[in-house]
Amino acid sequence: MVDNNFKPAGFLDIPVPKGIDLVQAINDLKKAKNAIILAHYYQESDIQDIADFVGDSLALAQWAAKTDADVIVLCGVDFMGETAKILSPEKRVFVPDLNAGCSLADSCPADEFAAFIRQYPGHTVISYVNTTAAVKTLTDVVVTSTNARQIVDSLPQEAKIIFGPDENLGNYINSLTGRDMVLWKGACHVHERFSLEKILELKKKHPYALILAHPECKSVILKISDYVGSTSALLNYSIKSPAKEFIVATESGILHEMQEKNPDKTFIPAPPNDSTCACNECNFMKLNTLEKLYNCLKYEIPEIFISEEIQKKAIKPIQRMLEISEKLGL
Ligand code: SF4
Repeated sequence: MVDNNFKPAGFLDIPVPKGIDLVQAINDLKKAKNAIILAHYYQESDIQDIADFVGDSLALAQWAAKTDADVIVLCGVDFMGETAKILSPEKRVFVPDLNAGCSLADSCPADEFAAFIRQYPGHTVISYVNTTAAVKTLTDVVVTSTNARQIVDSLPQEAKIIFGPDENLGNYINSLTGRDMVLWKGACHVHERFSLEKILELKKKHPYALILAHPECKSVILKISDYVGSTSALLNYSIKSPAKEFIVATESGILHEMQEKNPDKTFIPAPPNDSTCACNECNFMKLNTLEKLYNCLKYEIPEIFISEEIQKKAIKPIQRMLEISEKLGL
């Protein structure tokens, strides 16, 4: 849990020195402080370009667990910083703008989730990584969209399971595995908003384009998709596929990496319901900027703190996920 007693204004709001070469300055600070910059695929492209490692939630957690840097700057949203701190409590962990939350994590308050769990005694609790540290303390095993199906499959067929907080992902896993998991009704505001009609219109204009979708999208979008997978699975699919055009139904930040890895292919962001907004962008993810990253490294603020009690409980389901993922070669 982020310690609210130590949550300045979310970020240090002071101007960077005029005329500074930000990229060079960030790299110098990183070296001087033995820091590592981890960035999620949904970050702005300039942040992805300066990061030591860019990945999805599972990969970021794996890096945070194994890095020997003294400082981790997690360019993503707050639960990712928390996960890094839970896994590496001896390291200092920063998120350039701690206002970067997650609507999916917010849709699952820990006290309400605890009451929900009490209604289903004897159930194994599976939580998506997009949850607060407090929710992770209520969880038996954490999953990401990369390993959710395999981790559910690894449980005995007769196991009774609660899955939260993403209902769309839970429904998708139920459909793949034939399970009947009890689902928490949470959602991500970005993945909920893709428009079936507009994607179909786009497909008419680009008949050879393949539709790629993240399993947090609604089932109507998943049904018309050629491939459904986690952010990294979509990226890998785009690399291996012989197709030349793709309509991508997930946060549009991944298009930067897709285009870098496939310069000869075309990637079209799937349109949201409301064409007047950039709803296929996660406004939380985009709060981090190079300026905030510079200030964060220079002044070492804002930092993630987690109480020892929460850290000790929350690490267990995350470690279980990492162990199963390693066994499964994920
Ligand atoms: S894209 Fe959705 S799930 Fe991912 S961080 Fe943003 S709000 Fe959360």
